[in-house]
Amino acid sequence: MAHHKEERTYVMVKPDGVQRSLIGEIIKRFEQVGLKLVALKMFVPTAEMIEQHYTLDPEWRRVTGEKTIKGYKDKGLTPPSEDPLEITAKILANLKKYMVSGPVVAMVWKGAHAVKIIRKVVGGTEPLTSDMGTIRGDFVLDSYQMSDTDGRAVRNLVHASGSPAEAEMEISHWFKKEELIDYRLVSEQILYDVNLDGILE
Ligand code: GDP
Ligand code: MG
Repeated sequence: MAHHKEERTYVMVKPDGVQRSLIGEIIKRFEQVGLKLVALKMFVPTAEMIEQHYTLDPEWRRVTGEKTIKGYKDKGLTPPSEDPLEITAKILANLKKYMVSGPVVAMVWKGAHAVKIIRKVVGGTEPLTSDMGTIRGDFVLDSYQMSDTDGRAVRNLVHASGSPAEAEMEISHWFKKEELIDYRLVSEQILYDVNLDGILE
């Protein structure tokens, strides 16, 4: 089994994150937690690439639809449809409009528990309820209620893979092998080395 420090995750600063001048702030937060940036590029995605990105997991349509219906019911609201796939079709159409509206910054980050650590730093999907101290909690104020009323995707600044398996699919969807760089950061010694001899002179 690969060492924990080999785990990778895919992150994308969404068009609103770029427009809010938060690229540096977002990168800073991943750097300061100890993760290593191994790939980075800026581009305007196509709607086709976005649809493929969200549906790399064949279960995503059903799971997201069911989760959204439950979200409405938990708040005492009536969902716009009882059919999860119908709900997700609308979400996906809105996401495609949102994500192609301007440049995004795509990245791969590597390090121990990269997926969970980055999700923790990013915060929960809906900015209204994401914790303070997280990127979504600190820098934006959107809600499903407002975005649904206005018929658009929720603007939450950043995408981050939800599991190591999702991360590997997303990395190969957005990056060519040769765009990823294998290198060592000197800080990895203090994060991971078992033997700390050699610090004292
Ligand atoms: P993420 O991994 O935190 O981005 O969240 P998901 O993968 O569960 O959802 C992907 C996207 O679907 C989100 O960024 C939202 O745009 C949308 N989405 C997810 N859940 C809901 C919901 O309950 N209501 C609405 N309106 N959109 C949702
Ligand atoms: Mg997700």
